Amino acid sequence: MKSTTTDLCRLCSIVKSRHINGIVDKPIHETPNYMVIPSIGAFIDGWVMIVPRKHIYDMSELYEDDEFVRLALKIYKYIEEKFGRPVMFEHGASYSGSPTGCGVDHAHFHFVPFVESLLEDLKETRLPWQKCIASEITNKSCGRDYLFYSETPPTLSKINGYLHIVDRPVSQFFRKILARKTGNELISDYKNFPLLEKTQRTALELQGLS
Ligand SMILES: [Zn+2]
Ligand SMILES: [Zn+2]
Repeated sequence: MKSTTTDLCRLCSIVKSRHINGIVDKPIHETPNYMVIPSIGAFIDGWVMIVPRKHIYDMSELYEDDEFVRLALKIYKYIEEKFGRPVMFEHGASYSGSPTGCGVDHAHFHFVPFVESLLEDLKETRLPWQKCIASEITNKSCGRDYLFYSETPPTLSKINGYLHIVDRPVSQFFRKILARKTGNELISDYKNFPLLEKTQRTALELQGLS
């Protein structure tokens, strides 16, 4: 697990309790090693991310961490109850500035309320996808960039999903699929469209998880 620290990292700032976007940056839930925050630029209400406190590039080794898996289960249920069943994914970047990441070098795991499956859309990309348990990603990716997608509820023992080892990086891969499916292509790039008001609504709706 490669790691580095940076003063410029937005997620590290949030870890240090610097909430420059107000409530949008305020974690809705925290555990010793993780926090849960609404995703900036979310064009779907209820979009949140689990973020490790440590600045690392991808989640691969954390998928084996009990604390993470317990938290993922809890957040899945909470989002399902508040907004409907979520899909989950990670843009696994293996180095700083990798185009596979979604513009953030700090690992994070997305939950997006979305009733439809994205499996057909993944198939249509004609990229090779393999069934994979999240805890196997470290071995399978061997330090390369990857994309991981899951739509089945996590259990305490595993998160089942689909893995693609990236050959040709595409930035914000899953965001782009969701943007297309929801007619939000024009605002799919969160750097140009942070959609702070929408993110704020999600933040307010989800405060108070204990
Ligand atoms: Zn960071
Ligand atoms: Zn991402």
